[in-house]
Amino acid sequence: MAQRVYQVWKGKNKFLLKGRLIFGPDASSLIVTLMLILIPVIIFCTFVARNLIKEFAAQTAGYAVYLVAIIFTIQVLVLLLLTSARDPGIVPRSPHPPEDVSGYDSSASVEVGGAQSLQLPRTKEVFVNGLPVRIKYCETCMIYRPPRCSHCSVCDNCVERFDHHCPWVGQCIGKRNYRCFFLFVSSSALLCVFVFSMSALYMKFLINDYGTVWEAVKVSPASMVLMGYCFVLFWFVGGLTGFHTYLITTNQTTYENFRYRAQNSINVYDRGCGNNFAEVFCRRRESSKINFHGLENEELSKPPKGSIPAMPIGNPDETRRVKVEHSLEMGNDLLNISQWHDSQEAADIRTRATGG
Ligand SMILES: [Zn+2]
Ligand SMILES: [Zn+2]
Repeated sequence: MAQRVYQVWKGKNKFLLKGRLIFGPDASSLIVTLMLILIPVIIFCTFVARNLIKEFAAQTAGYAVYLVAIIFTIQVLVLLLLTSARDPGIVPRSPHPPEDVSGYDSSASVEVGGAQSLQLPRTKEVFVNGLPVRIKYCETCMIYRPPRCSHCSVCDNCVERFDHHCPWVGQCIGKRNYRCFFLFVSSSALLCVFVFSMSALYMKFLINDYGTVWEAVKVSPASMVLMGYCFVLFWFVGGLTGFHTYLITTNQTTYENFRYRAQNSINVYDRGCGNNFAEVFCRRRESSKINFHGLENEELSKPPKGSIPAMPIGNPDETRRVKVEHSLEMGNDLLNISQWHDSQEAADIRTRATGG
């Protein structure tokens, strides 16, 4: 009987509902994240929001606090699930290495352990927005990674617009779940602010009633604990929200931010604050390149989308034209990938094959 794609998947992902939900290998950490959200909210609803109803002159104001806390929490949990349980933008593996290189230059072959084997160039150059970008060959996935794609060592997959692997959501953050991830982090920060302010408000009511802070703390220790917890957590989620807001406005990923800073290179994806913002928040989410629930044979018969597939061997002009078409197809998201940088390629193959 034919197996489903998720059953034979080579990455380290975990699946639920027959491949309809896809998690990272560390998805169990989600339980910790869930507890970090749910326990404080339950304490808040039980010991603060319920008592606040009595403190407000208009009871509806008290109920509103309750309602806002619950709606906020549901929103955070839904965003967490959407970030964690979906394909982050995995690029399908190729069943065999690209063949085009063998058509270019047989001098690229090298002696490995006495036997002659073909050495693929480790990198290629493509143009993005008129500027050269080096793309790398992934040994594991046997593809040339599209620009901004990186191989996650935790999940063992190449992921498009790879940002980072988030241990808190147990999933890669990439092209398809970045928006949800940002909304999850920013909503969590707002929930922190809300719980902190309402707990502080309740403390103020208690101080008015009992006269001293100490007496108020004795009446509602939960408020004090929640204020401390939210204060500490806000440094984390609030800081992360600020950092990702900066990354979005400058069109960088976390991965690129660390790399650019280290290499001091320019960001070729920056198209101005407004456009960068629109790229994350206004663009329709692309459908997944892999149907994990589908039957294995059907999926394998499709050419891998989004990767640089094996090119036909033959007339170099023909090959070049096909390459341009592929690069355009691959770069739907990347505005002007103009053409492959072929002029130096044969030379590059030689130098990189020998020099690494
Ligand atoms: Zn890979
Ligand atoms: Zn990952």
